[in-house]
Amino acid sequence: MIDPRALDKMMPYMKNNFGNASSSEHLYGWQSNEAVNNAREKISELINCSPNEIFFTSGATESNNISIIGAINSFDSNVHAITSKTEHKSILDIFKHLSKNQTNVTYLNVNPDGLINLDKLNDSIEPDTKLISIMMANNEIGVIQPIEEISKICRKNGIVFHVDAAQAMGKIDLDVMKLNIDLISVSSHKLYGPKGVGALYINRKTMKHKIKPIFFGGGHENGLRPGTLAVHNIVGFGEACSIAKNEMSRNHILLNSLTNLMLKKLSEGFSDIIINGNMNIRIPGNLNITFPGLNQEPLIQKIKDVAVSSGSACTTSTPEPSHVLRALGMSKSLIRSTIRIGIGKFNSKDEIKYAASYILEVVNKLKINKKEAIDG
Ligand SMILES: *Cc1c(COP(=O)(O)O)cnc(C)c1O
Repeated sequence: MIDPRALDKMMPYMKNNFGNASSSEHLYGWQSNEAVNNAREKISELINCSPNEIFFTSGATESNNISIIGAINSFDSNVHAITSKTEHKSILDIFKHLSKNQTNVTYLNVNPDGLINLDKLNDSIEPDTKLISIMMANNEIGVIQPIEEISKICRKNGIVFHVDAAQAMGKIDLDVMKLNIDLISVSSHKLYGPKGVGALYINRKTMKHKIKPIFFGGGHENGLRPGTLAVHNIVGFGEACSIAKNEMSRNHILLNSLTNLMLKKLSEGFSDIIINGNMNIRIPGNLNITFPGLNQEPLIQKIKDVAVSSGSACTTSTPEPSHVLRALGMSKSLIRSTIRIGIGKFNSKDEIKYAASYILEVVNKLKINKKEAIDG
């Protein structure tokens, strides 16, 4: 859901500024340009970089493509790259494509709590390893990877480090100066901005001229992402970033208390729930929960109601067993009894209570009673 304050800022760029075709084109162009620069600044303030290190794209998927394929293409010979088994599908699909074109890819296993094992990462580095891509926060289980440690490993070995931070930006501290990352993908709609816009951060010091464009057609965004900018979306994205920066600590408190309430209610009504992913090193508002001992219908097909109203807690999952949960070593039957609960800043205590009781009603109906299990 979009923050209404971001939407308000966007409206003039969809109405007045386009309606005014008869007024000087220069004025319109100048206003749009200023609005874009203003947004670029707000985004750079949120992640502590320079505005000219921000390149607008249509979202994190596109940023992932431009940065990873562009970086790999800048090397003259075939190279080796490392990523993890729990990355977002867009990353895994890019590497699947690249491995058909002679890039040798290692998919790291993660620890049972979802975190990258740094020793394994070190061990998998080869003389021709040129790129590592690891997400900051996982979109299914919420765990936060040790980005600063991985960036040190990359620097030591002269490896380009790309981070998909779509789930992290605006939710947790993302300071690119401190983290020393080369490339970062971010997305507006993951922090209450509009859909269809995102950005790629390119470290000016380490990556200048090192990304080969994969799109052609004009000079926009330094020739890296040609095409008319969606000014209204960019303005909304910028506003969402400045709201996120101002309200991050308040949101942490709110989301942690709502998450704890949800957990309390669920564990009161179902005794042996399992929380997937490291319980302490995770983004606020994410819960991924398994209800063991249910019959074998995929739980998510039974829980449809909770996401209906825009303000309510949303539960989602794909019908096929999640690649992330499989990477944690979970059995297919446990995966079928798992749901992801995303709690947002617009949720209320009442909605959490309603969602929890609804979920409990469904899972307790699906519970195989012990006698049945023994008999059958
Ligand atoms: C949502 C998401 C994406 C895709 O972002 P879009 O802007 O929708 O393309 C990529 N990576 C992660 C981790 C995400 O959560």
